[in-house]
Amino acid sequence: MTSERTRQRLVQRLQESGISNPMVLAAVAATPRHIFVDEALAHRAYEDTALPIGRGQTISQPFIVARMTELMLDAGPVKKVLEIGTGCGYQTAVLSQLVDEIYTIERIGALQDQAKERLQSMGVEGVYFRHGDGFQGWKEHAPFDAIIVTAAPMAVPQALFDQLAEGGRMIIPVGQHSGVQDLMLVEKRNGQKQVAMMDKVRFVPLQAGPVE
Ligand code: SAH
Repeated sequence: MTSERTRQRLVQRLQESGISNPMVLAAVAATPRHIFVDEALAHRAYEDTALPIGRGQTISQPFIVARMTELMLDAGPVKKVLEIGTGCGYQTAVLSQLVDEIYTIERIGALQDQAKERLQSMGVEGVYFRHGDGFQGWKEHAPFDAIIVTAAPMAVPQALFDQLAEGGRMIIPVGQHSGVQDLMLVEKRNGQKQVAMMDKVRFVPLQAGPVE
């Protein structure tokens, strides 16, 4: 159920859904998603679906992880990324194969501890963890070439836009917590916001934090 063939089927499905960047497809193929979910759900790890990870949170759908990563890379290589919402660390693991440094923030301490342990045991390098409030970003390490937000606020947080490098891009779901949100591509050009709506998505809410 966690075999090479099962993973290849997922990659094929992502391709059929419109993901075309070969580096992104290779990163998904190389990431053992079953390690990021509870053992009882491991048999569903290579389905293209979100799954519960405890504390009311989810592991994102592989298509969405691939889509956000592809959008991030569309304008060329990216070195330094800020990720908001580490969760189980799956998106972090995919990103780590494509960029040099990831600064990742999680609001729930218990989830962060698990993600950290998991990624470290996989030998993932260049990932820096913070238990904190993603609304604030991580000013000490700004500016970031890209910011990926994996929980939905009602509007683009200004602190995050401020920490985006000139020419950088943020991929962020924005909208009502209980409904469908817009996946937005926010670029910084001459210090100004340029916003494009990409997809309709469903994410858990971005909430003020941190909590244990
Ligand atoms: N990136 C994950 C998906 C995480 S789900 C994956 O690859 O599967 C969204 C995560 O965002 C949850 O773990 C939630 O606790 C976290 N979150 C919500 N609000 C946050 C905030 N203000 N700061 C940091 N993390 C937050």
